[in-house]
Amino acid sequence: MSKRQAGPQRIAIAGAGIGGLTTALALLQQGFEVEVFEQASQLAEVGAGLQIAPNGTRVLQALGLDVALQAIVSPARGKEIRMWNTGQRWNLFDLGDDCLTRFGAPYWMVHRGDLHRVLLTAFAQRSRRPVRLNARVMSAQSHASGVTFQLSDGSVQEADALLAADGVHSVLREQLLGEDKAQFTGLLAWRGLVPMDRIPAHLQHPVGTNWVGPGAHVITYPVRAGELMNVVGIIERDDWRGESWNEPGTHAELLTDFGHWHADVCELMRQIEQPFKWALLGRPPQTGWAQGNVCLIGDAAHPTLPFLAQGANMALEDAAVMARCLAAYDTPAKAFAIFEAVRWQRTADIVNRSRDNAQRFHNPQLSDPAKAVDYVSSEWEPEKVRRRYDWLFEYDAWTVPL
Ligand SMILES: Cc1cc2nc3c(=O)[nH]c(=O)nc-3n(C[C@H](O)[C@H](O)[C@H](O)COP(=O)(O)OP(=O)(O)OC[C@H]3O[C@@H](n4cnc5c(N)ncnc54)[C@H](O)[C@@H]3O)c2cc1C
Repeated sequence: MSKRQAGPQRIAIAGAGIGGLTTALALLQQGFEVEVFEQASQLAEVGAGLQIAPNGTRVLQALGLDVALQAIVSPARGKEIRMWNTGQRWNLFDLGDDCLTRFGAPYWMVHRGDLHRVLLTAFAQRSRRPVRLNARVMSAQSHASGVTFQLSDGSVQEADALLAADGVHSVLREQLLGEDKAQFTGLLAWRGLVPMDRIPAHLQHPVGTNWVGPGAHVITYPVRAGELMNVVGIIERDDWRGESWNEPGTHAELLTDFGHWHADVCELMRQIEQPFKWALLGRPPQTGWAQGNVCLIGDAAHPTLPFLAQGANMALEDAAVMARCLAAYDTPAKAFAIFEAVRWQRTADIVNRSRDNAQRFHNPQLSDPAKAVDYVSSEWEPEKVRRRYDWLFEYDAWTVPL
């Protein structure tokens, strides 16, 4: 491994989302100069819940964000499965102390807006340059001594390297890999937040719940230090194709989809302040993230369906591995090639296994009372659950070999 020459390199990042800001913090910690370009005119609170598993929390903790995050996350006691119609419960796994003992890091449930604000505040405190807003990166050209890229205001920028953290609709992915290969999954996702004081006491516990049913499933978990309950309902429906984080829907439509489910689900859905809906699109894993002095990271590199709750965690892992690669190798092009080699198989496995989970959550056997209980007991049997999740949580982005 050849070491980088002395003197800070200037790394530009397109996108001030979860991955872009975390990567910026990891690079600042390694002594790089960082400039972040964000298309939005302001970084407002959009979105709802994210689950940050030990593979993600150990990245955030090593960046010195533990204290700030403790104030806004909801530590989880465990996760459970519930049957869509009877409400029967199965323990999926314990979290809390068990998670710390087994994985050495916590499991946090968090509002995306809260996590984003903590990242943004830390970046503002640690960087000489604020995030540049209204700065949509339109295209980039890698050359022998760095990268040139164009912003939407017509200006041309230079840096030693450019990281494309511009999310699921990345223009830089399209430039590097060609036309988006997104395919509609036939699934629609509802999401919303419920103030905790509006829901029945028996549902207010610090546990993540995965309701499974024929053709649909519902995920609930607390966020914002237990002030809000995050509710996501995913259903097989092919009449909606908009892939957006802020498309409002109605309670009437939501209850047409879930009104025949257990009373606890219906009550939660009725209490959602504003339901939003988005279509789920799948994108097969693709290589080619690293091209000269430009590299894709986060959702731009490996967009995923949400059925393993690993999209944000992969972006956090990327941040740590990318900072280590850039610190360890003498040119960004070499660092990026190593980054892709190190990250490719893991992220492809997550994307593929996440897609496969939809079938498990929505299995037709769940509609048959004679089969449903046996199906859940067998599918979520403890040893199988460990095989499905331990490899995710054990990954340490700070020590994985480069
Ligand atoms: C507004 C919003 C709300 C979300 N809400 C949820 C949620 O409720 N639950 C959930 O599971 N996931 C949500 N996500 C997605 C989740 O944050 C990501 O899947 C995950 O964190 C991976 O992060 P990322 O940094 O790769 O992408 P993101 O966090 O999506 O960040 C991408 C950033 O790049 C910016 N950007 C895009 N194109 C350009 C460009 N050309 N130039 C400059 N900047 C650009 C975007 O404005 C955004 O700030 C949301 C994403 C966004 C943008």
